[in-house]
Amino acid sequence: MSGSRTLRVTHLYPRLMNIYGDRGNIMTLRHRCEARGITFELTELSIGDAFDPQSADLIFAGGAQDREQRNVAQDLLATKADAIREAVEADVVLLAVCGAYQLFGRFYRESTGVELAGAGIFDLHTEHPGEKTKRLIGNIVVNWEGQTIVGFENHGGRTHLGPAARSLASVRSGNGNNGTDGLEGVVYRNAYGTYIHGSLLPKNPAFADHLLGLALTRRNGDAELAPIDDRAETRAHAAALSLKP
Ligand code: GLN
Repeated sequence: MSGSRTLRVTHLYPRLMNIYGDRGNIMTLRHRCEARGITFELTELSIGDAFDPQSADLIFAGGAQDREQRNVAQDLLATKADAIREAVEADVVLLAVCGAYQLFGRFYRESTGVELAGAGIFDLHTEHPGEKTKRLIGNIVVNWEGQTIVGFENHGGRTHLGPAARSLASVRSGNGNNGTDGLEGVVYRNAYGTYIHGSLLPKNPAFADHLLGLALTRRNGDAELAPIDDRAETRAHAAALSLKP
């Protein structure tokens, strides 16, 4: 294995888009790096901050209610979207959860009918059918690469993938992108979008290491990730598998 390694993570809008504890994903990435002696460097960017596409190995953005999304959408397009798209095209890893996932598509039509233009990184669009329509809420289990990813979801928006988009997973129980097509999330190059809160990564160590591996391979050319003590994570994953949707 090469000498000391570093992972540079940029967390977008950490206070505005942190619904349902999505910050737990950053904590997990930090833990899974430091437990392996990998230096974890975190940069937080919010309204008005520019993003340097050379500055990050992994970009994270969490979920939010429609109100915060409205504030963020304008800033995202004005100060960060082009640079984030450049980073994604250069295979920087991106994880976007729920509200962020929606804003990295082509547009998000809110429950009010107001349409927020998205960053256009993912070929998808999202429509919220209105406050009186049932929200897609509950525990969710999806099948990913022969394994399971567990968590919970709480979104009004229904996301539809376009022809250039590839889903992340198929729904085993729960709703996923829209509650009708059996798909969950999206993958484009090393960029991932998902509705799964939980937060997502603590209970899904295999998926967390998958993202770490992609980022470290891109940066160092090697992604040797020594096994770490995942007994608690594995127990939590198993417990989540037994929950009712
Ligand atoms: N406001 C969006 C929706 O209701 C996203 C919610 C979220 O991030 N949990 O679909």
